[in-house]
Amino acid sequence: MTDLLFFPEIERKPLAEIKKFQEKALNDLLSYIGTHSSYYKRIFTLHSIDTTKIRRLEDLVNIPVTDKAQLQQFNNDFICVPRNRIVDYITTSGTMGDPVTMAMTDRDLERLAYNEALSFTCADGSVDDVYQLMTTLDRRFMAGMAYFLGIRKMGASIIRVGNGIPELQWDTINRFRPNAIIVVPSFILKIIEYAEQNGIDYRSSSINKAVCIGEPLRSPDMNPNALGKRILEKWQIKLYSTYASTEMATTFAECREGTGGHHHPELIITEFLDDKNNPVKEGEAGELTISTLGVEGMPLLRFKTGDVCYHYTEPCACGRTTIRLGPILGRKKQMIKFKGTTLYPPALFDILDDIPYIRNYFIEVYTNDIGTDEIIITAGTENENPELEKDVKDHFRARLRVAPQVRFMKPSEITKIQFPEGNRKPVKFFDKRNNSSSF
Ligand SMILES: [Zn+2]
Repeated sequence: MTDLLFFPEIERKPLAEIKKFQEKALNDLLSYIGTHSSYYKRIFTLHSIDTTKIRRLEDLVNIPVTDKAQLQQFNNDFICVPRNRIVDYITTSGTMGDPVTMAMTDRDLERLAYNEALSFTCADGSVDDVYQLMTTLDRRFMAGMAYFLGIRKMGASIIRVGNGIPELQWDTINRFRPNAIIVVPSFILKIIEYAEQNGIDYRSSSINKAVCIGEPLRSPDMNPNALGKRILEKWQIKLYSTYASTEMATTFAECREGTGGHHHPELIITEFLDDKNNPVKEGEAGELTISTLGVEGMPLLRFKTGDVCYHYTEPCACGRTTIRLGPILGRKKQMIKFKGTTLYPPALFDILDDIPYIRNYFIEVYTNDIGTDEIIITAGTENENPELEKDVKDHFRARLRVAPQVRFMKPSEITKIQFPEGNRKPVKFFDKRNNSSSF
């Protein structure tokens, strides 16, 4: 098998060979951070870790994990290069209000471009594609710039419209006839709505695919979730889901098969961990924990992303043998243990989004008298009647086997609760347990 430019041979090798390849890369990472990272040098000393003894991926469990709080607290200690080697500063939201800085070198930007070239290729991209970028390129974000660099590297074309402004999006589509958009999927609904209101025949437009970011489009069974369904009912374009984060500086993109985001073994090591930071088996949900490969500015070792997902090791019909990540189930700290079932808020949102007579809603979780989690759904509907409560509960039972408490309110009252002072996005989840937060 020959190496295609952005479909490297390693992505088609047996998993055992991929593992060996990654173990070599892990050695390089350990030796690099053991020399250049004040944070990891301190961790290795503190825990008496001899990194030369970490040879296999299984040995990683002997090194403490890094989480977002540590990245925030010791932010500068993660930087491995002198200040004059840093080309680009990026920030990402932290856990305690203050943003976390990620510093990138020239080589990191090159790696980021390669990462996106791999990902867009995975999502059926080629030199013939013209992408319309519907996300922000600046404002200290990584994503938009990464897409620009990756598409340029892949040899395709890009039109940088940025986020929002449906009118400008449609003007651009009509003017340049791109065939693909890069977009947060809920924004697709906005541009459809704008097209409908303004007599734009969006179904006959030049767009035939969307590379989607930021929100999952599938349920854990890989079928479209409520958002995915809502888009596809209106507009039959091909949707590719991708998952990435600033700290990882790596993307997991779906291929045409739509069976999860593909792992790129040259760029990142993945682990899926349980509550005690031990690896979970395939078929069990685990917290994605990553070690970056080839990162020069701020490499991370065993960084806990906070995102929980399933992983799959079966080879894919697209020819890739690399593992795949299922849709993100939710944030680890928002996990709800309810009547013996483990749930995450997005699964609850998805059920409610799918019930046509529910206009809006919020969910509260609190700790009950016996110390377990209790869920109350407050749903907004115009036509409340005695049958509704049972019907909503049946929707939950059908999907989750358990039903939370349900009550109803006027949609206008719910809107007031969803938008506390200063909030631009509706708050749909109120976590009233100990050590909790809302979003
Ligand atoms: Zn595939």
